[in-house]
Amino acid sequence: MSRETCYRCFWPQSLCWCASIQPMATRTRFVFLMHPKEFKREKAGTGRLTHLCLPNSEIHMGIGFDDHEAVQALINDQKNFAVLLYPGETARNLSNGDLQAADLGGRTLVVFLLDATWACARKMLRLSPILQRLPRIMFTPSAPSRYVIKQQPQAGCLSTLEATHELLVTLERAGLDHYAQPTQLLGLFARMQEFQIKCARDPARQGYRRHPYSEPGERTGLKGRSGMRSRIFKTTAPPPAQPTPSSSTSNTSVELGGIAPG
Ligand SMILES: [Zn+2]
Repeated sequence: MSRETCYRCFWPQSLCWCASIQPMATRTRFVFLMHPKEFKREKAGTGRLTHLCLPNSEIHMGIGFDDHEAVQALINDQKNFAVLLYPGETARNLSNGDLQAADLGGRTLVVFLLDATWACARKMLRLSPILQRLPRIMFTPSAPSRYVIKQQPQAGCLSTLEATHELLVTLERAGLDHYAQPTQLLGLFARMQEFQIKCARDPARQGYRRHPYSEPGERTGLKGRSGMRSRIFKTTAPPPAQPTPSSSTSNTSVELGGIAPG
């Protein structure tokens, strides 16, 4: 197998995703802000694939963004209505109609997404007053995560592909965007997982997980530090800021009341 890397999707050339990605136009501009840790770990992950599917999107790596030129320009542009996807009490819930086309007043909706764990996302916010001042949005996902690979410990954790899919569904329902290809993001996500599970089951492969993944019903939530890697997308509320070491897992649990699995 060729060891050459595709510098667009960051997968090996022989497994490159680029040919199967159909760029999908959106009215909304999506800005993925990736913590450097996440960038290193997830360089070829779902954030990058989501970005490649959406021509009206950009991806930036960093922790503090107050001096970031492109981010500043997007927020300061009077033609934009910039918001931060960050659930919480003050966030407008798009699923409840808290943001209407009239609120935009003809401006372009620009959604900033922090592609990071809760701990990293908090740090990014703390170091970025420009992001703190943005109005916040959230939405109520229609389905729990389909993420089986990482054994996401909480129902509220969605991959970037899933989160963007759910956001587009919500934006279309709210009359704020048109979701042209509603199957693409989840299709890519499913194929990516199939591939990773296949690799894990192939003992001849080097560099992949050594043990196959257990069946979804047999999995248990991750404990300790791994359990802390809950991603911030789609959760209805952030976990407490300072989990105690003895009960970090329960402190990060985020419920999505009323959503049945399956
Ligand atoms: Zn590629």
